[in-house]
Amino acid sequence: MIPYGRQSISQDDVNAVVDVLNSDFLTQGPTVPLFEDAVKDFVGSRFAIAANSATSALHLACLALGVGKGDIVWTSAITFVASANCAIYCGASVDFIDIDAQSYNMSVSDLEQKLILAKKSGKLPKVLIPVHLCGQSCDMQNIFELSKKYGFKIIEDASHSIGGKHHDSFIGSCRFSDITVFSFHPVKIITSAEGGMCTTNNSDLARTIELLRTHGITRDENELANHSEGTWYYEQQLLGFNYRMTDLQAALGLSQLDRLNTFISSRNKIAEMYIDDFSGSKITFQKLLDNNLSAYHLFVIQIEEKDTGLSKKKIFEALKKMGINVNLHYIPVYRHPYYQSLKSYEKKDFPNSEKYYSTAISIPIFPDLNEDDRQYVSKSILGMIL
Ligand SMILES: *Cc1c(COP(=O)(O)O)cnc(C)c1O
Repeated sequence: MIPYGRQSISQDDVNAVVDVLNSDFLTQGPTVPLFEDAVKDFVGSRFAIAANSATSALHLACLALGVGKGDIVWTSAITFVASANCAIYCGASVDFIDIDAQSYNMSVSDLEQKLILAKKSGKLPKVLIPVHLCGQSCDMQNIFELSKKYGFKIIEDASHSIGGKHHDSFIGSCRFSDITVFSFHPVKIITSAEGGMCTTNNSDLARTIELLRTHGITRDENELANHSEGTWYYEQQLLGFNYRMTDLQAALGLSQLDRLNTFISSRNKIAEMYIDDFSGSKITFQKLLDNNLSAYHLFVIQIEEKDTGLSKKKIFEALKKMGINVNLHYIPVYRHPYYQSLKSYEKKDFPNSEKYYSTAISIPIFPDLNEDDRQYVSKSILGMIL
């Protein structure tokens, strides 16, 4: 089976992890800050705080921005559930923005319409979580302008997109946001097995995220509320969690970061070849906006039933039979039974997400995908078009 995505592990990666295994620190030790500094330097943010997953990092980001009971958070309808769950963890309610039919990212015009209505009814969001789907940045400059006008904060869910660029800045620089979150799950661009990271340019947010990652505990003399009672002394100041990354994970992430540029260029090359193969056919794919370099975590194509005579289910089954393990990213979040139990989200409010859901297929893209396999994928798909 050719997977839709997979990690690329080198001997250097293996050695880096083994070195940590033989060291004094297995969990958060000296390697975590090295990884944080390297990511921060790469993306051009002032601070980077590692966590044990992007899901944890998103939760920490929401808490740091003060999301709580009674607050409203908006995110894209087409994303992994974690982009929305993080707000629910904090007791907030969630609503969704339909995607743009071409870029697959949150539609800025729909966002603006929804903001106008929300302002009238006094239900503006506290935080917006744009998701850079497949590795392409959302239209952050315009989203940022809307945030100034309507007074909300921004967390970029950049789980797909480390190494991507927007307006000449690396995603994660937080030029147009308060916090950016990355995922280092094995299918993502670089991996630490499980792992995530927040980047920000705001020192208060960085410190709060850092505190909450470790139970809300500090040992820093300058931060203590009371006088130190001795060298054993520490204080829990907030209700935090154990969301720490291990040094084993950080060593893998740090070693992978060396190859980030190579990964991005291999992914872009594969994408270009798919685009060449499918141009002129009835297959459509994500349109890249000007000023964007995609990290191409995913390559999504859209095929309509009228062009193949086959339902999406049949296409999936046929491709799997041919040894191509296609996938779907994602089921619109509001369709999940859990979200339906919270509120009666209506499909008619999300026409582009519904259309996407009925036609989108993620096809294989990852740095080690060889050219024979890639051509086989293109040919197999083109062979289904009438
Ligand atoms: C993978 C992913 C997450 C969660 O990442 P983990 O590191 O697995 O917790 C969140 N948001 C999006 C968009 C993702 O793709």
